[in-house]
Parts: sequence; structure tokens; C-alpha cells
Amino acid sequence: MDTKATPYIGENSPLNRITTYFNALQSSAEEYLFVIDLETEMALLSDNFIRDFNFSSNVVDDFDNLVEPFIHYEDREIFEDALNAIRSANAEETVDCEFRLLSKDGEHGWVRMSMAIGMGEFERPEFLSGVIARMDIPVKADNITGLLKRNVFYAALQQELESDPRAHGAVVVIGLDNFHVITETYGHRFGDTALRQIAQNITNVLPPDIKLYKLDGYMFGMFMPYAMPEEVEIIFSSVQLCMREIRNVDDTIYCTASAGATFYPDDAKDVITLARYSEVALELARKRGRDQICFFEKEEYDRWRYDIGMQNLMQNSIARGCEDFFLCYQPQVDAKDGRLVGAEALLRWYDQDGSIVAPMQFIPMLEKSRMIIPVGHWIIENAVITAKKFQEFMPNFQMSVNISLYQLEERMFYPFVEDCVRRHAIDPTTLTFELTESHQIYDWDFVNKQFGEFHDLGIKIAMDDFGTGYSTIGFLKNFNCDLIKIDRMFVENILKSEYDRKLIKHMIMLCHAVGMEVCVEGIEQEGEYLYLRDECGADQIQGFFFGYPETEDVFLERFKK
Ligand code: C2E
Ligand code: MG
Ligand code: MG
Repeated sequence: MDTKATPYIGENSPLNRITTYFNALQSSAEEYLFVIDLETEMALLSDNFIRDFNFSSNVVDDFDNLVEPFIHYEDREIFEDALNAIRSANAEETVDCEFRLLSKDGEHGWVRMSMAIGMGEFERPEFLSGVIARMDIPVKADNITGLLKRNVFYAALQQELESDPRAHGAVVVIGLDNFHVITETYGHRFGDTALRQIAQNITNVLPPDIKLYKLDGYMFGMFMPYAMPEEVEIIFSSVQLCMREIRNVDDTIYCTASAGATFYPDDAKDVITLARYSEVALELARKRGRDQICFFEKEEYDRWRYDIGMQNLMQNSIARGCEDFFLCYQPQVDAKDGRLVGAEALLRWYDQDGSIVAPMQFIPMLEKSRMIIPVGHWIIENAVITAKKFQEFMPNFQMSVNISLYQLEERMFYPFVEDCVRRHAIDPTTLTFELTESHQIYDWDFVNKQFGEFHDLGIKIAMDDFGTGYSTIGFLKNFNCDLIKIDRMFVENILKSEYDRKLIKHMIMLCHAVGMEVCVEGIEQEGEYLYLRDECGADQIQGFFFGYPETEDVFLERFKK
């Protein structure tokens, strides 16, 4: 047993005067607290010094020397320097430092020590107060909402899963939609108040035994033992209702919540996977338009994972000079006599297992990730090289290349094309760009200006997939192009349907009336071809009836015959 006597503080000493406050403070703090009387060098320490470092008393007279052995030897100088600095500091100055301190488990962990000077009578430095906070202890509660954080959520869920092997229920993640707009519009202070209010409102609508946790960003989490999908939906409806109550003074803010839910043990049996799947479901709810709940769907998730995997593979393939991409060429013929006039270059990609992937599976992803930009350059470069080869046999051979709007929006696109045409010395009038419309065009002036430049260079412009998606009749009004390509959708049934026959005939008449040529795509049978040639006066035809998309060698082989 330690026999060291507790040093006497002195009745009128500053330490004695603050003891009551000090005790109140230390009872609610996890940090190590100390106050040193600058005259006597007596120090008052919080109880956790005794608990963690075996100090014999709360009052010591050689604080620096007592603490130093617990500090990592490389950091002791930092500690000494900081104490010296604060002892010679003026009022209102503070000194902070970081060092490694031994913890109960025998490891050194990083701590931050912050010290300030306390003034006595006649503005004289009387004592110094300090706080040592461990930086490696995760904070348990969120300081805006007061809710417990992700680490506590995980621990509680872990306990629930371990409590009973037959445990079942739901894990729900709620995300506030567009909340950052609120903070940006009304400021962070209002944002914090609104967030606190939302957390409170949601807590109020939950059954009393369900706890709400604050995850990162503007997300909340909870788990609901025994809950079935219907119950989760009902609870989410009340969450949606309480979101409507969040208002500012002008009643102008409108904030909604989306949610994702997973069910254990069916969807997953471990905490990390359950939480991740719930966030995946939340993402789905947001994609589907927000203000709704989605349950985790394994198939959707696997598809997403496949896309991510493919995206990585494509990224690698682009880094190696578009190694696994290749182009196929499909003949385009003159409708009048079926004579070959050119080809459309169609992109393909070799998957890891050597199988060939069609563009519909990866073009949208290339566009979304903007990888279409480097791949687009590669496509044009290679289509031009091939066109030059074909032109050795047929000088006027026309090469059509698909261009996505994203490519058009890129500043370096035009200079690249111009340079490519020059380098390969190709006649630009033998090139056609087919604009494949993946999203709505808002800036028509820009698009037309771009096309104007390509026109001036001599390149022809075609509007692809006319009549589908965004490529509608409104285009004819805005769009400066030479050729309209009518999608296969309008051809498929012409042999069976009188209506479809009339429709395509009048579409072609309309295009001709406004001075555009027409290429009809997807012709698979002779009957279709004959109708388009004899009754509709189509200008060009492209379809399996005249040839499938083939690699350069196969195409050349066929076309030389
Ligand atoms: P698209 O530009 O309209 O190309 C025509 C598509 O119709 C091609 O599909 C072609 O194989 C198919 N097709 C042609 N004739 C027939 C037929 O008689 N019957 C049937 N059932 N289909 C026929 P593919 O190669 O799968 O390409 C699909 C789409 O992917 C293209 O539609 C185009 O929008 C896009 N795409 C292809 N290559 C590229 C490219 O290099 N860049 C960009 N941005 N998009 C491309
Ligand atoms: Mg096309
Ligand atoms: Mg098309």
C-alpha cells in the first residue's frame, strides 16, 4: 500500500477555491484534467490519473515528473516544451501539443494536451489548467443531433445478431435528400438546427424500443428486430410525414428523406454487409426519384457490381491504348440498286473471358464516366485508318462513325478530328458523324455551332435512331444535318402492319420535304427492302439483309468479291 501522504493544498489557495468546480467537471469528462497552482506548483488531478496511472493522490507537487514516464520517450521533449511555454505565457494564450501516452492496455496512443493560464487578483497569472484528450477513442455521440454514431450502431447491431441465432429483422438507413442545398441556402447554423429537429422528429415517430443512430453525412440508421417489410414501410411513411414538418420561418424549405432496408438473416448475416446493402438500397431509392424506400435487391446489386467490374476492366483497357476494344463494320447500301456505298463503324469489347460485349451494355457506362472521350478518339482514329484501306478499292467509300453528345461537348474534340483528318490525309467528305442521342440537348446553339464547324471541314452529319428516345421530330426544327437514320423499330412490322407501312412512308416523305436524305436501319428481309425502295424512296439501307457487322478483314474479304 502506498503510504505517501496527500500534500496539503492550503485553504486559501486557488486550487482549494476551484475544487468543487473541478470535481463537477471531471465527473462528466473522459479526458484527463489538471490544474497547477503556479505559485506552489501543487497540481490537482482528475480521478482517471489515479485509475489509469496508479497515482497515489489527486494532489501532487511534481506533476511534470510524475507524468513524464508514461509518455513515449521520443515525445517527452514535446511535453516539457509545452509546459515551459505555458508557464511563461500571458493571459488568454493557450498552448496545444500532441504526444503519445501509455494507455491501460500497455500501448502508446496519441493524445492532445491543451493548456491555458488562469488569472488571479491584479491580473496576475495564478494557475494553469490543462486537458489531455485521447485521440484514438472514437467519439460516441454526434454533436449536432446528440444521437449515437455509426460505431455504436454497429456494436449494438452486432449484439442483436449474436443474441440469438434465430434473430431476424430489418436494418434501415435513412438519407436526407438534398440536405446540402438547405445548408448552402440558409447557412450552417440553420442547417444544424434543422438536422437536430429532423433527428428529434424521426425519433418521436419510432416505436419506443427502436433507437435512431446518426451515420455519416446526412444519414441515419436503425435496426428493427422482428420487423417485416410492411412494418418497415409503415414506419417510413411516418418518417416521410414528419419530414414535411421541417419548416423555416418563411415556410420555404422542403426536405424529403429516402431510405434503404435490408433484412437479416436473409440478405446478410453480418453487420458490415447489412449496413452496406442498406446503403445500396438507399442509393436505389434515390435513383428512382427520392422520397421513397427501397428494399435491397440482390440481382440489381449484382448487376451494379458487374458494371463496376466492367468499368475497371475498361479503364485498364483504355490505359493500355484501348487494347480490348475493336470495331466492326456494317455495310450501307444505295437503296436504288443495293450497291455498297459505305459502312458504319460499330464498337465491340472483349470481356475478360474472351466473350464479345455489345455496345448497348457498355456505351452508357462509358458516357457516364466520360471514358467515351478517350475511347471516342480511338474509334475515330481507327475508323479513319480502315476507311483509307477500303478506299484503295473504292475511292468514295463512306465511313460512318457514331458520336456521343458528351464527345461533342469536349473542347478538344474538334481539334482532334481536324488533326486526324490531316494526319491520315483522308477526304473529309467521305466521313459521316452519326449523333447518338443519349441525353436531351439543352444548348442547341452550341450543338449546331459544333456541327457547323464539322460541316465546314466537309464531314457529313447524320441524326441516328430518329423517332426514338430524345431523337424526335422537334429535332428537324433545330438540327442542322444531312442525313436522318430511321430506327429498326419502325421497320420491324411493316410486312405485317398497314399502319407501320404508312408511318414509315410518311416519315421518309417528311424528311425529304425538309431536304434531308434518309437511311433506314434494321432491314432483315427482302420484302422490307422492296417496300422501302419502291414505295418510300429511301436513299440508303443498312441491315442484316445486306450484311452483318464484321471485322475489317472479313468485311474486306466479302467486299472485294
Ligand atoms: P446504331 O448506331 O443505331 O447502330 C445500329 C445497330 O443496329 C447496331 O447494333 C447494329 O448491329 C444493329 N443492326 C443493324 N442492322 C440490323 C438488323 O437488320 N437487325 C437488327 N436486329 N439489328 C441491326 P450495335 O452494334 O449493337 O450497336 C448498338 C448501338 O450502340 C448503336 O446503334 C450506337 O448507338 C451504339 N454504338 C455502337 N458503336 C458505337 C460507337 O463507336 N460510339 C458510340 N458513341 N456509340 C456506338
Ligand atoms: Mg449509328
Ligand atoms: Mg441507329
